[in-house]
Order: sequence, then structure tokens, then C-alpha cells
Amino acid sequence: MSSTDAASPPCARLCLIGLGLIGSSLARAAKETGAAAEIVAFDRDPAVRARAGELGLAERVPDRAVEAVAEADLVILCVPVGAMPGVAAEIAPALAEGAIVSDVGSVKEAVVAGVGPALDGRRAHFLPAHPVAGTEQSGPDAGFASLFRDRWCILTPPEDADPAALARLSAFWTRLGARLETMTPAHHDRVLAVTSHLPHLIAYTIVGTASDLEEVTQSEVMKFSAGGFRDFTRLAASDPTMWRDVFLNNRDATLELLGRFTEDLIALQRAIRWGEGDALFDSFARTRAIRRGILELGQDVSAPDFGRASAPSSDRKASPKPSGGAETG
Ligand code: NAP
Repeated sequence: MSSTDAASPPCARLCLIGLGLIGSSLARAAKETGAAAEIVAFDRDPAVRARAGELGLAERVPDRAVEAVAEADLVILCVPVGAMPGVAAEIAPALAEGAIVSDVGSVKEAVVAGVGPALDGRRAHFLPAHPVAGTEQSGPDAGFASLFRDRWCILTPPEDADPAALARLSAFWTRLGARLETMTPAHHDRVLAVTSHLPHLIAYTIVGTASDLEEVTQSEVMKFSAGGFRDFTRLAASDPTMWRDVFLNNRDATLELLGRFTEDLIALQRAIRWGEGDALFDSFARTRAIRRGILELGQDVSAPDFGRASAPSSDRKASPKPSGGAETG
């Protein structure tokens, strides 16, 4: 990696492995902001590689991961969490001396445990990261350059991380417009279990329950979805492979939180059964404050419909998402 002053790109050759929503957004953002002088990319799906070429996401899209990483000073794994250790083992022998290997995985402890040992630590610096930005869409067409702007990117470096390598990775994400936070992998997984993983599990459950109901038709569920259900359907439309891997790899934190959630749900169930209006009111009043806090921190907008564009999703794809819009993983 070259120098990190404002004019020069923080990265000379960026290699992206996995060209779905996040990988293709990184390619677009790095190009737009000049965060990388050159981008080389790889995806295991030949159709995705061909599409990446058509979209001009990278200067080169070789057919093999080992070719893509050669001489890259920053390699970012943008594949589902469960695929990361295998990709790391495959690329390890081809990494340039002193390269930074990072990732975008939504889970950090399992990635550290799986990817770290697969890399040759003497050759490359492994610095895990997670941009807390995304949508329910997948694939190379779903990405957009502004995805990371004003969003948090959480870094979970090892205690003995090389300070110069960490500064270079930080400069890269800052150039993309992201805000940086550093924490341990375990803490990251607990925080994200609350803010992202459990909400997705609840959404998958509610939408699954609704679609199994016998007394309410599926067409009624879709027709009258504006009453709250629709927001769950957005989360529940997220990529099944990605979310399978998230839950398999953040098992402990998710199960612990699910236990707490179940207790709280049963308390509300009891309050409804026994007509305890004050208990319901107090609980709902407390949660309003969280929403106000999110708005104050600029993590959403107060416009109706969560600030989402009202255009159909096919139109939304073509235009950049509002920065306060839909977010997942
Ligand atoms: P995505 O749109 O489904 O893209 C993933 C791409 O990686 C697919 O093209 C997939 O190909 C490819 N891939 C899978 N295994 C591979 C391998 N072994 N070698 C090369 N390519 C491989 O997923 P995404 O939403 O970009 O998510 C990527 C990562 O970002 C995940 O780790 C996720 O946890 C993290 N993340 C996601 C979000 C979000 O909101 N989506 C937010 C933050 C972080 P196939 O289709 O053939 O499997």
C-alpha cells in the first residue's frame, strides 16, 4: 500500500474476492473515491465474473482467486462468512509479502478463528472488518458506490496488529466515507446479535408464520402488509446463504439473546392476557426513546416510510439508495 495522504490512493492494488452486494459496492466506491489505483476482482461464479466485466467493476477479473490476489496490497474477502476460511487457505500461498487481508463478514469471532490460521501470518496482516451497511439485495447489480458513506465500519484487529497496516486499512475505509469504530471480535458479535442478527431472525420467523397461516390468505397478507409486516418482509428477503452462515457462526451470542427475548415476549404475552395496560404502555414508551436516539445519531431519517424511495424496487436498483435507507447485515 502506498502513502495515505489525501491526494494519493490509500491502496495501490485492491483485490476483491466475492462480487455480490458488498464486493461490487466496494469496487464502485473505491473507483468513485479514488481509494485504489487499480482493482482486481474474483468471484467463483463465471456468470458473476462476466457481469463484473460488463459493469466495469474492476480492471481485471481473472478466472482464479490466486491470480487475482497476486501483487495486491489489500485483499478483501466479500464472500459469505462460512466460505471465508476456504478462500483464505486457497489464496494464502499467492499473497504478496506484507499484503493486508481483510474481510467484510457480519460475524467476527468465527472469521478470526477460521481465517487467521489459514493465512501465513508472517507474510500477510490479517485485519478483520465489518461495514455495518447493506440492503436485502444480492449480486453484482445490487451494489452502489454510496453504500458505506456515513455508515460505521467496525474494525476488530488483533492486539498485536501492525500499526502501519491498521492505519492503511483505516485510511481506505475513511476514503470511502465510512466512520470507524474498533472493538474486540467477541464484543462485535454481541452488539451485532442485538442490532442485526436477532431482528433478522424475528423477521424470518414472522414472515414464515404469516405464510403458514390457514385462516388468513397469502394474498391478504400481501395486500394489507403496510401495517408493519412490510418492514419485516424486507429483512426476511435477505440472502439465505449469508444469513444461514451468520447464525451458524454467531451461535452463542444469538442463542443467549434469543433466551432474553423469549422471556420478554412472554412477559408481554402475560400482560396482554391479564389486561395489564400499564405494563404494556410502560414497555412501549421505553422503546420510543431508542428510536429517537437512532435519529439523533443520524442512523436513520424521520421521513415517513423510513425515508425510503416510493419507486418500485426495479427502479430503485438503478438509482442510489438514500443514505438513511434500508440496511441489513
Ligand atoms: P452476495 O451478494 O450473495 O455475494 C456473495 C458473492 O460471493 C456471490 O457472488 C457468491 O457466489 C460469491 N462466493 C461465494 N463463495 C465464494 C468463494 N468461495 N469464492 C469466491 N466467491 C464466492 O453477498 P453479500 O451481501 O455481498 O455478502 C458478502 C459478505 O458481506 C458476507 O460475509 C456478509 O456477512 C457481509 N455483509 C453483508 C451485508 C448485507 O447487508 N448484505 C452487510 C455487511 C456485511 P455464489 O452466488 O455462487 O455463492
